[in-house]
Amino acid sequence: MSKADWDVAVVGGGLVGAASAYYLSKRGARVLLLERRELNGQASGQNAGSLHFQIEQRLVSHGEAMTRQAATILPLILDAIERWRGITAELGETDLDVVQHGGLMVAETPQQVATLERKLKLETQGGLPTRIIDGEELRSLAPYLSNSVLAATYCAVEGHGNPRLITAALARGAARQGTAIRTWTTVTGLRREEGCWRIETENSDGSVRREYASTILNAAGAWARELAALAGVHLPVFPVALTMNATDAAPPFIPLLIQHVGRRLSLKQMREGNLLIGGGWPSRFERDRNGLVTTRAAYPRMESIYGNMAVALDVVPAVARRTLLRSWTGIVGITADQLPLLGEVPEAPGFFVATGGSAFTLGLTYAAQIAELIDSGRTPLDIDIYGPRRFGHLNAYMG
Ligand SMILES: Cc1cc2nc3c(=O)[nH]c(=O)nc-3n(C[C@H](O)[C@H](O)[C@H](O)COP(=O)(O)OP(=O)(O)OC[C@H]3O[C@@H](n4cnc5c(N)ncnc54)[C@H](O)[C@@H]3O)c2cc1C
Repeated sequence: MSKADWDVAVVGGGLVGAASAYYLSKRGARVLLLERRELNGQASGQNAGSLHFQIEQRLVSHGEAMTRQAATILPLILDAIERWRGITAELGETDLDVVQHGGLMVAETPQQVATLERKLKLETQGGLPTRIIDGEELRSLAPYLSNSVLAATYCAVEGHGNPRLITAALARGAARQGTAIRTWTTVTGLRREEGCWRIETENSDGSVRREYASTILNAAGAWARELAALAGVHLPVFPVALTMNATDAAPPFIPLLIQHVGRRLSLKQMREGNLLIGGGWPSRFERDRNGLVTTRAAYPRMESIYGNMAVALDVVPAVARRTLLRSWTGIVGITADQLPLLGEVPEAPGFFVATGGSAFTLGLTYAAQIAELIDSGRTPLDIDIYGPRRFGHLNAYMG
């Protein structure tokens, strides 16, 4: 008989970890969720909350081959659209501030319009309901857009969720189903022992605890690489620090999510009236003495704030009438090829990972797929190409 105390220990209490704990415990697994600080304290609570289902600017700006590769993500996107539509009711919540009123990806140059057209072709092939609009139709759908916008692709199911609400609701759901949640608990050691994983954790009061789980799920976001190193494997997940901005509240005038195909911009109006403006502008994170990424907030960069606001003003001139109230930063983990990292690490049996990419939009989908993979060894969607196996050569020489 296995000496495991838990079927699955999920490391990381962001959206991906909380959602995985929810879906795993729903399937009857005994789940332990470990978070070194508070739930939702990192990227999942700091992001823009965009539910962007169109192929993103960062994925279409590195040439044809990368764009085609990025389009392989469309089956996950289609799954995410349905999960977000149903998540509030599924969790038994009344309001998680999830809206799917539609989104536009705008173009300001003929070259960008051509990129929209190429992107649209791939999306149509992949079954995403997107179409290109311009002229009168675009002006009447989005009269707040500047005349510099020549055309846009419109996706009627895009929108946004509230990053402050969703992770807590998932954690509540997981707890109701029996998940044990331990915050202020850092995983400091992982070792394979007699067919299961010995987990060493350190509490905020310095106390150390050892327990056993059959399976580890690495949902540590930007820290996924460091967590994997504890288990003796390389995972190429790179921390990237980003910037967000919020203005004062205005009467409702932008019902749609606005993104840009050639410049870094995401813009939306929240229920309270504030405009949330981001789009992947960098900030600067710190490393500690051992070279590890700290959990301290990254430093904002003024040039990112100016740059981001300048794009927003170009696209939506009414931004000029707003006051910038707050800018903040967050650290997200991205992979070397910008695709998700989802699956079991072949060199470390029982060690799974779910991270990478835009894991607010795709977080529920990653979690549902990984829960099914852990529980049944199969997934309804083909996630093989996102597996850590593609980086297996990095682990061929690990001792
Ligand atoms: C500014 C910004 C804007 C973004 N905007 C969007 C957007 O609009 N749409 C979108 O789809 N995505 C967006 N993203 C990306 C998205 O936020 C992330 O992909 C997603 O939140 C990742 O969730 P996660 O649960 O994997 O990671 P996180 O939320 O970072 O959670 C990981 C958790 O693991 C914990 N942890 C790490 N190591 C350990 C350890 N050893 N022991 C215990 N716990 C540990 C950390 O403390 C952390 O809480 C944005 C990201 C940023 C930073």
